[in-house]
This record gives sequence, C-alpha cells and structure tokens, in this order.
Amino acid sequence: MTLSVSLDFDNRFSQQLPADPDLSNQRRQVLGACYSRVKPLAASKPRLVAYSSEMAEQLGLSTIDCASKEFAEIFVGNKQLQGMDPYAMCYGGHQFGHWAGQLGDGRAINLGEVVNTQSQRWALQLKGAGPTPYSRTADGLAVLRSSLREFLCSEAMFHLGVPTTRALSLILTGESVVRDMFYDGNPQPEPGAVVCRVASSFVRFGNFQIFSAQGDIDTLKQLVDFTIINEFPHLGEPSPEVYLKWFDEVCRLTADMIVHWLRVGFVHGVMNTDNMSILGLTIDYGPYGWLENYDPAWTPNTTDANGKRYCYANQPQIGHWNLAQLGNALAPLFNDEKNVEALQQVLNGYPKYFEQGRKKMMAAKLGFEHYIDELDDALVEELLEILAWIETDMTIFYRSLAQIDINVALESIEDEALMSPLLDAYYLPEQITSSYQQRLGKWLRAYIQRLRKDNKTNEMRRQEMDAINPKYVLRNYMAQLAIDKAEEGDFVLTNNFLELLRHPYDEQKEHEQYAAKRPDWARNRAGCSMLSCSS
Ligand code: AMP
Ligand code: MG
Repeated sequence: MTLSVSLDFDNRFSQQLPADPDLSNQRRQVLGACYSRVKPLAASKPRLVAYSSEMAEQLGLSTIDCASKEFAEIFVGNKQLQGMDPYAMCYGGHQFGHWAGQLGDGRAINLGEVVNTQSQRWALQLKGAGPTPYSRTADGLAVLRSSLREFLCSEAMFHLGVPTTRALSLILTGESVVRDMFYDGNPQPEPGAVVCRVASSFVRFGNFQIFSAQGDIDTLKQLVDFTIINEFPHLGEPSPEVYLKWFDEVCRLTADMIVHWLRVGFVHGVMNTDNMSILGLTIDYGPYGWLENYDPAWTPNTTDANGKRYCYANQPQIGHWNLAQLGNALAPLFNDEKNVEALQQVLNGYPKYFEQGRKKMMAAKLGFEHYIDELDDALVEELLEILAWIETDMTIFYRSLAQIDINVALESIEDEALMSPLLDAYYLPEQITSSYQQRLGKWLRAYIQRLRKDNKTNEMRRQEMDAINPKYVLRNYMAQLAIDKAEEGDFVLTNNFLELLRHPYDEQKEHEQYAAKRPDWARNRAGCSMLSCSS
C-alpha cells in the first residue's frame, strides 16, 4: 500500500538559511549555521500507536494513508518522501537561569515544510529518531512513556484552545531504549518511540541566542529577517523599527500563551529559553503536569522540586525573564543607544500584556461580561486564596461554578446549601470546616451579587463559562494509565483519550469518570504527580 497523496514540500528554512557544511553525524560545536543536515536512524519494527485525524487532514492525508504500512515507515524516519530534506537545528539556551551554550535539536530531526492545498505551511519534525550533531552525551532517542505524553498533551492543548505545537503520529520503533527513570542508578530498557510534531515553525528563543552569544551578528540578522518575513509578514519588511514591533509581538504572544496555561491549570515544567517558541506556542512537552488541587507553588518536575523555579504561579515572571534574554540576544541588531532603549521599553510592556490577558481570562472563567478592576481585583484575590486553602480540584471547581444559581434568596440560604454545587471539587471532606464554609459562603454571596450586575440568565452564563472552563483535561494519572496499557501493547486507552480530549468542553456522559478528581492511588505514584526529566 502506498500513500494516495504525495506531500508537497517547500523547505524555506533549509533553503534560505546557512547550513553546516559538515555532513557527518558527529557531535560537535557548529558555527555560522542555523542547522545541520542529518538522516533519521532506521527503526527495526515501526508500529503505529495513534495518529491525530485533524492533523492528518490538515496535511492532506486520508484515514487509509494513516493506516498504511508506509505511513509508519515515513513517520518513524525509515523512509523519506521526495522533497524531504532532514536536518537538526542549532540553538542555545538558558537552562534553570544559566547560559548553557550550544544545545540544538539533540533528538529532533526536521523533515521539511509541507504546503497543503490551502497553501498553509506545516513543518514536520520527528522527535526520538536518532542522534544528531547536537546530541551531546545523549542518545537522540525517546521512550514510549514520554512520547505518549507529548503526543496526547499537544493534541489536548490544541483542542483546549491553547497555542501549541501539534502532533501527527506516535510510532513505536521496535527498539528498546535504556533510561534511568527515577535517576536512582537503576536503568531499565523501555520501548522506543517517535512522535511526529507539527508546527508552522519550531524556532525557539535559543535559536537567536546562540548567534548573539557567539558574536555572529550576520547569522543572527539572517535568522531574524527570515523569521519576520515568513512568520510575521504583516509587520512589513525587516528594519530596526520592524524588529521592535516584532519583539513586541513575541512579548504579546508569550503572555497570551501563559495566560492560557493559567486558565487550564497547565505547568510546563521546564521553561528554559530553548523551550520557548518564537511563535508563542507551547513546545517540548517533558515533565509537564496539570494542577489537580489548586496549588500555585506546584511543579511536576522533580529536578525543580527544591527551587520551584518553574512552578505554576512563577510561569508569568519566567516568561518575562526569558523574553529579557531574547531581548539581550537581539540588542546587537541595533547600533544606536536609542533603539536599545526602545527594546527595553518593549520588554517593559510584557507585564501589561500579561495583566490584561489575565484579567480578561479571569472574567471569562468567572462568567463576567468584563473585568471591572474596582470590583474584581478583590474578588479574584480572595477566590485564589480560598482555592489554595484546602485541597480543591481546580478544573472541577471552575466547571461547577457555572452551576451556581444567581436567583437564590441570599438572605435565607445557608452557606452549606450555597456551596453544594461545588462539593465534587474537594479531595478531603474533613477539611471543609465551618470556618471554610463561612469564608467560601461570603465569597459566593459577593460573587452572585457581582454576577447580577451583568443581567445574564443562568443559562446564558453557564453556556459561556462551559466554553472556557474545561470539563476534561489530561489529568496526570490519565496519561500514566494510557502509558501502562500501551507498554503492554494495548493502544485502546491512548486512542480513547485522544478522542475524549478532542471535545474537552463538552459533557461526555460515557467518560464522566475522567472528569472526576484524581483517584487516591495516583496521589503519590511516579508519573502521576511527579516526573523526572528522564525521557
Ligand atoms: P529538554 O530540556 O528536554 O528540552 O532538552 C534540552 C536539550 O537536550 C535539547 O537540546 C535536547 O535536544 C537535548 N536532549 C534531551 N534529551 C536528549 C536525548 N535523549 N538525546 C539527545 N539529546 C537530548
Ligand atoms: Mg527542549
């Protein structure tokens, strides 16, 4: 069986930007080049675990194409289609606040850019398809566990409306890959897998930083101009003025992405500058996690357990810090002081973008027409304190909040009755003390009075809130259940979750159990609450 369509490639990145002349696959420092050509490693027994039907359709691939043997061969990296030009990108980055020098695509190989029938351009990238010149001391491979998490989460995020890279396919290689999952000196073989990721561009902050750090301003400028022309054409021809506009847009997109993370309870886990997309897409799903009980200080990443640099509530400031590093990298493009100052001014605008976005998002989550500072600042602040006070499931709480009835007689209703629609959100009923009830009751009364100012019926408000507060997210334990099954060769749960998470805002009666709180067994199980970077 062969693919019924051929994909049309037009590889602007590799055609227009400087290539590393060295074609060997030796680990090395690369200078003056945006990428190195490299072939994916052959996989002995490719086996499709799952694919995203929406993504396939976008690319012009049919269901029959995706079920074909050839599809698995192509997207595991065994077979190249005409027009593909595989390469790994060169980038650097700040990891946990420290400049790490050259990093690069150590286990990602770009296949090229597909142009679909609507003239949309999609870059394809295989993650886990073998070593590249940027693999440093690692093997260039990925295990099923982490690949499945990336595959499911990127599609789940897309359907939640969060800017993200996409995933076309998840394919087992047939090889085993040794990983020390707990970093405890006990490495084990695990099934190897490859995800085909898809995005308009995979360029990261670190792609610019590396040239600036090397004092290679020519290549820096080439990459900046290329990015503006191809990804931000509405800004106009590259010039110092346009560079500023572009940086401003990157600040806005980054703020917007992080506002979405806060909205759905997502914690990226490794917000290093090499993991920050220039398009403001969520990229590099590693030890990410979802808030279950609302805890602003929570991070899923065991490597970050002490510093908590990348915990839920720090994400907005880390976004700003990362943008400052990008700004530093761009400064050499300007030769006069005035423009460098203007760059700083643009960076200073980030908190404003974030705050505007956060307020709009909170108003929507709470079902308000608009955010009114004088009324809502205090209301939101108090709510977030209440949420963190006792173990409260964030997703269930907001989803259930829509069920609050604005027509209740506030003078006669008891606090206990008032909060009854929210009861499913609590992990430990014994924590619902009378002082908790009183405090939440007081908040709910103020909330209802606030809602009444908007003149919306319960029905109208509920519909709007349900479109912004998801019923289903990829709870940490769900990914782990899918992994346990997939490691036994059973892919049904992975595919069921993929389907479930295509409609995260819909009531799906048959899947109600996945809208419930994290089960107790998952509270402290590895992979369900804490994750290492081992992948
Ligand atoms: P991360 O923090 O996972 O985004 O990775 C940081 C850097 O390490 C990137 O340059 C990755 O490409 C590289 N890397 C991570 N895991 C591997 C691996 N198994 N083999 C080669 N490079 C890797
Ligand atoms: Mg990365």
